[in-house]
Amino acid sequence: MELVTREIDIENFPLADGDILVKNQYLSLDPYMRGKMRKPDTKSYSPPFDLDKVLQGRGIGTIIKSNNANYKVGWEEYSHIPKDATSGIAELSEAISKSNAPKSYFLGLLGMPGLSAYVGLNKIGKPKKGETIFISAASGAVGQVVGQIAKIKGLRVIGSAGDDSKVKYLEELNFDGTFNYKTCNIDEFETNQFLSKNSGETLDIVLNRLNLNARVIACGMISQYNTKTPYGVKNLMNVVSKRLLIQGFIVGDHYQEIDAFQKDMDEWLKQGKIKYKEDIVEGIQNAPEAFLNLLTGKNFGKAIIKIC
Ligand code: NDP
Repeated sequence: MELVTREIDIENFPLADGDILVKNQYLSLDPYMRGKMRKPDTKSYSPPFDLDKVLQGRGIGTIIKSNNANYKVGWEEYSHIPKDATSGIAELSEAISKSNAPKSYFLGLLGMPGLSAYVGLNKIGKPKKGETIFISAASGAVGQVVGQIAKIKGLRVIGSAGDDSKVKYLEELNFDGTFNYKTCNIDEFETNQFLSKNSGETLDIVLNRLNLNARVIACGMISQYNTKTPYGVKNLMNVVSKRLLIQGFIVGDHYQEIDAFQKDMDEWLKQGKIKYKEDIVEGIQNAPEAFLNLLTGKNFGKAIIKIC
């Protein structure tokens, strides 16, 4: 990655019909971005980043210049957004103005990671009161939300994380069971659902521990994103013998749920039922290191870059 500094003349910045210019305040760092840093001929559900071009991602900022009647100056450092990429900004802007939550939450709790937690748990997990769910990477952007929604729905929640301070946070969130998977072995326990976000060895152990008819919500496989030696799952026979359902999802297919999700989440926030931990790093120059930290577990909470 390269840090490029460039002067821009805001006053005379050329905007085509329908384009807008945005001053960034918060930029989201997400594990899926690692998947887009690949050779162009490798197939995936979303296109790779182009070499030598600016990375694309989610952000929150202020529109400082607009040549688009639908977007007034009001709500990136700076992003020039062409007309055909502006859809959804008005809805986001409205949701931010209606909510009392910090703006940055719209990149985490009230944004893509929160929605992933909500649709993964509801649509695949189909939680029933009294069931047990196990969540790996449980203190992260998605994991902490899944656990808290699961508590609201009356589930028994077990969460693992890779660091003692993260485990302590899970205790503060009233998880029923917590452990550091780097220092503990998973003791014998039974569960009806498993939200798998880092896969590999954890998934293998959990496959042996799942209850009959349990659902595995395959959200991500972060331990596999940056490795040349993929982990081979051994305990798959459990899928047959325990009648398990393993189902993946991509949050981008579920944006029709965003209004219902944000309404529920806003309400839970107001009622004090949800907390959210962010890991905000200041300065765009620190983005590459912060991104690498996300892939080694050095982040603690939703990874965000704040533009100073
Ligand atoms: P997190 O905030 O949870 O950060 C990533 C965490 O993953 C780290 O803090 C660390 O937690 C764990 N981790 C990092 N590297 C490794 C590794 N090599 N081996 C094992 N664990 C590791 O990120 P998100 O909540 O944003 O994302 C979590 C997962 O969900 C990712 O796999 C992501 O791709 C996926 N995801 C999927 C979506 C979908 O549409 N399906 C949407 C959004 C996210 P710890 O220290 O506890 O191990």
